[in-house]
Formats: sequence, C-alpha cells, structure tokens
Amino acid sequence: MQTCSRCNAQAQDYESECPRCHASLAEFSATAVALRRLQTNARVANVRVVAEANACPACQQVAGTYAKDQAPHLPVPGCSCPNGCCCFYEPMLTEIYP
Ligand SMILES: [Zn+2]
Ligand SMILES: [Zn+2]
Repeated sequence: MQTCSRCNAQAQDYESECPRCHASLAEFSATAVALRRLQTNARVANVRVVAEANACPACQQVAGTYAKDQAPHLPVPGCSCPNGCCCFYEPMLTEIYP
C-alpha cells in the first residue's frame, strides 16, 4: 500500500497517482516524502531500507543500506507481499562532533 501525503488516501502499489487527489505518488507518497526529508537532512548520511522479516523475495533483496541519494524508490517494483510493499526508510545518522 502507498499513502498519499497530501490527502492521506491509500493507493495500491501499482498506482502512480493518488486515486483521490491525483498527486503523483512518485513525488507525494508518504515514503517518497520521507526519503526526500532524509535526503535534505545533513545529519543523515545513509538510508536503510527495512523489510519485514516475512516480506517477499523482491523486498528482501532491496532491503539494505544505501547512500541517501541512491536509495531505491518504494514500493519495491515486483513486490508480491500479500498486503503490498511494507518496506520503509530508516535514517543512518552521521555523528556530529561539536
Ligand atoms: Zn491524494
Ligand atoms: Zn514485497
């Protein structure tokens, strides 16, 4: 499932725009917005894609740590999880020394 960050409508993983407000989900899905926020945060060096333990093979394969500007788009293409792709981004913070 994808969630539209503009109107909170839910969309299927294969949909490219929000069924309610027609925002582009490549840009405005909750995960896309979350990733953009991490990318603009100077304290975030890398982004981890976290998949559930019982996620499908496609999701398991995408799970891992990426340079933040190389993080893959979510939902994972080809995901076959029964409830849709549940992967999410987790920030890996850089240590900031005073
Ligand atoms: Zn929407
Ligand atoms: Zn999956």
